[in-house]
This record gives sequence, structure tokens and C-alpha cells, in this order.
Amino acid sequence: MENYDYVRFLGQGSYGEVQLVKHVLEGKEYVLKKIGLHKASAKERFAAEQEAALLSQLKHINIVSYKQSFQLNSTLYIVMQYCEGGDLHTWLSNRKGRLMDELEIILWFVQIALALQYLHAKNILHRDLKTQNIFLTHKNEIVKLGDLGIARQLSGINDMARTIIGTPYYMSPELFSNRPYNFKSDVWSLGCVVYEMCTMKHAFRARDFSGLAYKICTGKVPPLPDKYSTELSCLVSSMLEQEPEDRPNVSEILHLKFIRTYIQMFI
Ligand code: ADP
Ligand code: MG
Repeated sequence: MENYDYVRFLGQGSYGEVQLVKHVLEGKEYVLKKIGLHKASAKERFAAEQEAALLSQLKHINIVSYKQSFQLNSTLYIVMQYCEGGDLHTWLSNRKGRLMDELEIILWFVQIALALQYLHAKNILHRDLKTQNIFLTHKNEIVKLGDLGIARQLSGINDMARTIIGTPYYMSPELFSNRPYNFKSDVWSLGCVVYEMCTMKHAFRARDFSGLAYKICTGKVPPLPDKYSTELSCLVSSMLEQEPEDRPNVSEILHLKFIRTYIQMFI
């Protein structure tokens, strides 16, 4: 802890405070996430440490990198890379409804898809893909996936319950019928994220939980604005297919001809 100076408060995370800190010797800024373990059992603490260890092994340009983690006085501290552009949710809401260009959307989308492909290749599911967990950095040219489910290990309750406590907007239809979370559930959430980048609105919205469940499980969403290509709109629809097996996997998405063309031109 003495290696870091406190800079400022970034926000209240679901399990504890999130701070911006500065490494004394490096002079570099990092994010310090505190996760309270007071109520956790020995088994849960162990699981949290295991998960932190796993996170530290992930190395990808589009995943928020973890510097170190340690437990002190019943608190798990995770030090990670600071993304100075903030999260995508905040960025989108600051646009006040002004639509993004297709090129901008694809350039971010491809990076998130690459991060997901990396995780899926290692048999890791993100499980909490949403605009709040996507971070912007390097003048917003690089986007990074964060929050790889530490909280999940801690809670000990099933995925369904956990998502209801958090944001259910990105929950896929299979979770409502108690089918297991799978790779294609991450693809569904990715579809919701792209939809949101195209419309500045959640793909599925309702006043209460049962209204939302109904919308998600009937799967009808308003079409994307006219300015976007048919290819993009077909891609989004395919990611939001009701049946997980009807959705493409991340590698298939990245091999689509129109995505390939964008990648060859710009990345
Ligand atoms: P949790 O997911 O544990 O509930 P959050 O991810 O919501 O906590 O973090 C709280 C705040 O800190 C949010 O405003 C978020 O944007 C910010 N934040 C979290 N991680 C980073 C990061 N790596 N870089 C910049 N800001 C971050
Ligand atoms: Mg978060």
C-alpha cells in the first residue's frame, strides 16, 4: 500500500470504493479497486484470490491490464491500468443522442470482439459485458474490456440472481429460462453493446423487470437508424438471435467480409 499515493475518488463500485492512485516510484497512475471481504467465507476469499491471479495472467491490448492484487485487513485490493477516457456508458451519454459514424462504431466494436475472442479461446466467459465495463484510452482510439467477474466469485449466488441485482439490460433470453451462461450469452451482450452505440439507447428497455424479461424473450428491437449499413444491421440482428446456437461466435464475426474490409483499411 505504501507504494501508492491517493490521487482521487473515481467512483463507488458495487463491492467497494474505486480510487485513482499514483505509484510513488514509477510516477504512473493506476486504479485501485477495494473489495470488502468482511462478510466472505475463507472459501470465498480463496476464490477471489484465485480469480485475481487469473486476471493477472491475461495480457491483451484490449483488456484492462491488472498490475497486482493483495489482501489486507479483510479487503482485497486490485491495482489495474487507469483508462483516462472513462467508460463507454458515460461517453455515450455525454453525446446527448448525437449518433456515431459507422466507422467509429466498427473500430471500437472490433477491439471489444478481439478481447472477447482472446478470453473465449482461453475458455473464459466475461459474463458482465456492458457499456459500463468498456473503457476508453489513448485519446479514445483504444478501447479496453474491464471488470472480469471478480464479483461473481464473491457473491456465491447464481448468475440469474446476480444479474438481477446488477444491470439486467444485457441479459440473454436463455438466462431467463435457467439455461446456463455460455459463450453465446457474451455474444448477446456484445450485440446489446453495439446496438447501444448505434442508437444511443438500450436495446431492451422496460419499466420493470418482468417487462424487460418479456422484451428480451420476444426479442423485438426497433431497427437501427438508416445511416448504418445493411451489413451492420444484419450483424446486430444475428447477435440478438433468441437461440444461442443461432448467434455467430466471436471468430465468425471477426471473419465477416465487411468487418475484414474495415480491419484491413484501418487497424
Ligand atoms: P464495480 O464494477 O466494481 O462496481 P466500477 O467498475 O463501476 O466498479 O467502478 C467505479 C468507477 O470507477 C466507475 O465510474 C468507473 O468508470 C471507474 N473505473 C473503474 N475502473 C476503471 C479504470 N480501469 N480506468 C478508469 N476508470 C475506471
Ligand atoms: Mg464495473
